Amino acid sequence: MADFSIEVDRELCIGSGVCIAYAGGTFDHDLEGKAIVRSPSSDALDTIRSAVEGCPMGALRLNES
Ligand code: SF4
Repeated sequence: MADFSIEVDRELCIGSGVCIAYAGGTFDHDLEGKAIVRSPSSDALDTIRSAVEGCPMGALRLNES
């Protein structure tokens, strides 16, 4: 699997859970209802990409190397 990292902008995240619906092996809610990133992720990179693109707030950034 390619190396990647994911950033969550907690100021933008509204806890919609869309990212978790797309990629539950990568994202979860913390106690504040904000998205957090599981490590290691069990999702394929394409799945993660869909989750990042599906965030209604643009709160996720995928950095691929
Ligand atoms: S989809 Fe976006 S707004 Fe919704 S929980 Fe995930 S990061 Fe937060």
